[in-house]
Amino acid sequence: MIYPIVAYGSPILKQKSVPIHFQTNIQPLIDSMFETMYHAGGVGLAAPQINQRLCVFVVDAEPMDEVLLKGFKKVFINPEIITTSGPDIVFEEGCLSIPGVRGQVWRPENIIIKYYDQNWQLHQESFSGMAARVIQHEYDHLQGILVPDHWAVLKRKLMEGKLKAISKGITKADYRMLFLKK
Ligand code: ZN
Repeated sequence: MIYPIVAYGSPILKQKSVPIHFQTNIQPLIDSMFETMYHAGGVGLAAPQINQRLCVFVVDAEPMDEVLLKGFKKVFINPEIITTSGPDIVFEEGCLSIPGVRGQVWRPENIIIKYYDQNWQLHQESFSGMAARVIQHEYDHLQGILVPDHWAVLKRKLMEGKLKAISKGITKADYRMLFLKK
């Protein structure tokens, strides 16, 4: 099932998600998340973006780099970033919840993350480079952190009008969005 994507300005995007009970069958949710993400042309999607306050996100970043990110398709349930290590690297990030807006975000190059997969197998893995970035972006969503929260005050001021417009439903996204009032 393809869900509408929750737009910037909705309170759920600023809330912390709650852990999922061990061994809950969330396969239907995961299938819908991938379907929604592909439909919108994204490389990652977190549950709050489809209005579910749950600690799960999916990624398939192969379209970003068919060599370095080949097969990088994963489900992260109840993830916990254990450590990060530098150097910090900057990259222009976008977000399906904030269509048409991009901005620089600094993130550590390497992470170690603990998570369950869709079969409730526990993993502890390290990622670096773009894979680590995509994971950190989605992980942020579970903490209620969005790309603009990483920006300097000046950049946020400059983009204020655009962000406000999105929250009011003025956007050219070519996928369905959900605008929730505060
Ligand atoms: Zn995002």
